Amino acid sequence: MAAVLLRSMLPLAGIALWLNFWPVWAHAQARMESVKVAEDVYTMVNSEGSSNSTFVVTEEGVLVFDTHIATADQTLAAIRKLTDKKVVYLLSSHSAGDHATGGWHFREDKPVYIATKNQVRDLYLYGAKEFAERKASNDPRYAAHIGKELILPTVGFDGSLTIYLGGLTFQVTAEGYGHSSGDLTVYVPQRRVMLMGDLLNTEIHPGQGEMAGVYFSQVQSWIEVLDRIMQRNLPVDTYVPGHGPVHLGRGVEDLKEQKNYFVVMRGEVAKMIQAGKSLEQIQEEFEVPQGFSPYQSPDRLKNFLRLFYNQLIEKGL
Ligand SMILES: [Zn+2]
Repeated sequence: MAAVLLRSMLPLAGIALWLNFWPVWAHAQARMESVKVAEDVYTMVNSEGSSNSTFVVTEEGVLVFDTHIATADQTLAAIRKLTDKKVVYLLSSHSAGDHATGGWHFREDKPVYIATKNQVRDLYLYGAKEFAERKASNDPRYAAHIGKELILPTVGFDGSLTIYLGGLTFQVTAEGYGHSSGDLTVYVPQRRVMLMGDLLNTEIHPGQGEMAGVYFSQVQSWIEVLDRIMQRNLPVDTYVPGHGPVHLGRGVEDLKEQKNYFVVMRGEVAKMIQAGKSLEQIQEEFEVPQGFSPYQSPDRLKNFLRLFYNQLIEKGL
């Protein structure tokens, strides 16, 4: 229950520091802490709130889920401490830079890189350009891009597929439009674990599914994706978030909290619209409801308030 403890023990000074430096460090070399989620399953939790990365060690090789060019070297180092088996599969939950750009670090193992077809499209349309721009930029946040290449998926799929590796089953599902134009999840029944990508964020305001300046997240679709996952009633002890600490053993409560977040927050924004507030006023005056008030990253909140506002105005959802 280390992560649950972390939730209650996070010192206030640490939070203040984290908030001050988060925007600058988000893409820089953040420290990753390895959390054992289940037997053979490890999540590298980004201590500054940027993206997490998970790997599963088997006798036949390693499967890696989500990599960021700025931190994937730490994922590889953690793997090498546990096994000399090759990384044979690489998957990204969606095409955002903090989840789909770290393949370069695993190039020597030549993993099969699996993504949904919508991710492949987005990576070709936007991701490659963004990577090239960041690589050419002098912005210190993107220093990790210099001298590296964007590795693109080698397999694209729609619907679902199943990987059998080292005695484990990896049920990979394209969950449809929600956080991004389509996040995939990975369910490992033998380990009672499901890797959620950014469909689940814990203790932090959700990201808006941004890639190369395009904001993909749709609140109502995201709620519906979470509903569909919950309706499966899967025997899962731990849903691993794309950002934020892993709540070991909290199970479906994390998904309920994520769904409730969207319903409650959207409701609050709707009340402010009804009271005649502009988007700027809402971003200025919004008070985060109790229960979500300890969530990290006011920047992400401000951005997401714009999505709530625009989507309510556009279609009432
Ligand atoms: Zn993310």
